[in-house]
Amino acid sequence: MADLRFSGIGMTSARTRDRLIQRLREQGIVNLSVLDRIRNTPRHLFVDEALGSRAYEDTALPIGFGQTISQPYIVARMTEALLEAGPLRNVLEVGTGCGYQTAVLAPLVGRLCTIERIGALLDRAKERLRELDIRNVKFQHGDGSGGWKSQAPFDGILVAAAPLALPQALLEQLEVGGRLVVPVGPEGEQELMRFTRGEQGVRRESLGHVAFVPLLGGRG
Ligand code: SAH
Repeated sequence: MADLRFSGIGMTSARTRDRLIQRLREQGIVNLSVLDRIRNTPRHLFVDEALGSRAYEDTALPIGFGQTISQPYIVARMTEALLEAGPLRNVLEVGTGCGYQTAVLAPLVGRLCTIERIGALLDRAKERLRELDIRNVKFQHGDGSGGWKSQAPFDGILVAAAPLALPQALLEQLEVGGRLVVPVGPEGEQELMRFTRGEQGVRRESLGHVAFVPLLGGRG
């Protein structure tokens, strides 16, 4: 029974997932381990049962508390952008949400530290990841704009909500050679940015326009 729940049937079946993978390839995702993670992560388990049949559409879906599960293309794009220079040992994720991005990324890195400001979402994410037997994740309930000092430095940081301007603390917790992928800007004008820390300074690249929920302060 558990197997069928993970593998899915009908609109959550392998064939439906393959169509999503095909679409992501057409949109330019090339990293095979990322595509493989998207194929093998049961996204239908991260949304309400009523939305399960839409889980493999390439769209964001509501997860309660005014938040959304990220669109698969965006999860793939951010994960690919983060991993482009090679394997990562210690990664920080800000904005766990329902844990879908966490589940895609965690098996591809050494260790993933993830912070979410809404406690009920974090609890649900923990439960899902436990169910999927993903064990290299450390969770924190709180405001991730200050990073996670005791676990720093990170060789990768991924932010799943948009600040108006880049929080300096995140850059400071990035080690030399490390990369930070983050949507920056006000609603309607956000750009996905990648910052790479070098010996001398920080390189910044734009990866295109995106639409994320805002990065908020405090706990929800
Ligand atoms: N990638 C997630 C979706 C993230 S939506 C998924 O796949 O489900 C963005 C999340 O960031 C929301 O859950 C929101 O509560 C959280 N968030 C917003 N501001 C935050 C902050 N300052 N610290 C931690 N989490 C934050």
